Amino acid sequence: MERTVIIGAGQAGGRAAVALRANGYGGEIILVGQEARAPYERPPLSKEVLLGAAQAGAALVNPESVYHENSIELRLDMPVRWINSATRELTFMDGDRLGFQRLILATGARARRLEWPGSEAAKPYYLRTCDDAEVLRRTLSGRQGDIAIIGGGFIGLEVAASARQLGWTVTVIELGQQCLERVLPSASARVLVDLHERHGTRFRWGASVKETKETNSRIRLLLNDDESLNVDVVVVGIGSEPNMKLAEAAGLECGNGILVDDQCRTSVSDIYAIGDAAIAPNRWFGKPARLESWENAERQAEQVARVICGLPTTNDAPPWFWTDQFDRNVQIVGVPTDEDQMTVEPGKTPDQYVHLYSRGDVITGAVLFNSGRRRRALSRQMSEMRDAAAAPCSPAESVDSMEIN
Ligand code: FAD
Repeated sequence: MERTVIIGAGQAGGRAAVALRANGYGGEIILVGQEARAPYERPPLSKEVLLGAAQAGAALVNPESVYHENSIELRLDMPVRWINSATRELTFMDGDRLGFQRLILATGARARRLEWPGSEAAKPYYLRTCDDAEVLRRTLSGRQGDIAIIGGGFIGLEVAASARQLGWTVTVIELGQQCLERVLPSASARVLVDLHERHGTRFRWGASVKETKETNSRIRLLLNDDESLNVDVVVVGIGSEPNMKLAEAAGLECGNGILVDDQCRTSVSDIYAIGDAAIAPNRWFGKPARLESWENAERQAEQVARVICGLPTTNDAPPWFWTDQFDRNVQIVGVPTDEDQMTVEPGKTPDQYVHLYSRGDVITGAVLFNSGRRRRALSRQMSEMRDAAAAPCSPAESVDSMEIN
């Protein structure tokens, strides 16, 4: 019987396993993960989990029974060390081996680390896994103090919002002159910064940490402008890096991610890559892009299952990402940029509105503030407008990433 092995029991891997069965795959499916937990959703980790409103890992990608019902074998706590793409065999860290006919790499990404003189003394927190979230939640709950968050991306801002709501004094240290520079046009990013400032978050723009000193159990961060900040906790959220060492060692073509075509196929036949680890042609960016979003992981998982089952696929809807901060749900559709013209479409209440970005008559993207109900219609409208104009693109060296951290 044919066997498909999926490496990475996360959002994309968990979804792909079940989608394979749903699309009629009759072979063996083995889902391998290095974490000890069944696939879980990461979005709550920086929001409900830190606030103590949900347990880390409680939101599962599939109910546990689904794996058994679909004859999907889960091998958890089993990191893969090596893939031999010629003999179609992988080797686990403990030396065990497993053959495959098809392989899906869904290895995700890891938090990018930051080192500076004395960084060990700051014992910085990172946030990617359930365990990370659990440790940070325990640190933040039941007491209050000063927290410095290095990096004003989505993860940094979500942690900032959670920490403020728990009563912490929050300072965000951001190298740029605004937050979310790579993913949001400045007018939309400004809305989020204003929201944080209204809640008392302080921002240090153009700032970086030069050195750390530990003083009387507190942490003194010396900044590049020679001012210093005394805090109790440091969190680093400066983006993430794709987990592609296995792929590189197996001889698969990689750039800023594992290169795939518009069918999730890598440069080696019968090996596929999906989710945060993969970089795929994307007509919305006009070049290959590595999208780090829940929706991209879901969409590519569905797609790869259809490809393996020999069914027709398309994957060209506009990218979609959301974030929750304080009382705001913010959704980003398409690729809005500062070069586009922005109009504000008001909603029913003052905190509901849409920043609509367009070039000529074509809507290029939208940022929806507490207006998620409008997303599907907008997404459809954008696809229709693009259909005539867009040209397909192929894997290339030039790569982009829409990172959420
Ligand atoms: P992952 O879910 O990371 O799964 C990859 C899995 O592969 C991991 O379990 C990893 O341990 C495993 N693995 C790696 N290497 C090996 C190996 N050698 N052997 C075995 N297993 C291996 N997106 C949104 O759209 N909105 C949000 O609000 C949002 N919030 C987020 C909040 C946080 C804190 C984080 C971390 C992410 C958030 N995201 C959000 C992004 C979203 O969760 C990811 O894009 C999604 O999880 C990607 O799925 P994936 O399967 O590619 O990677």
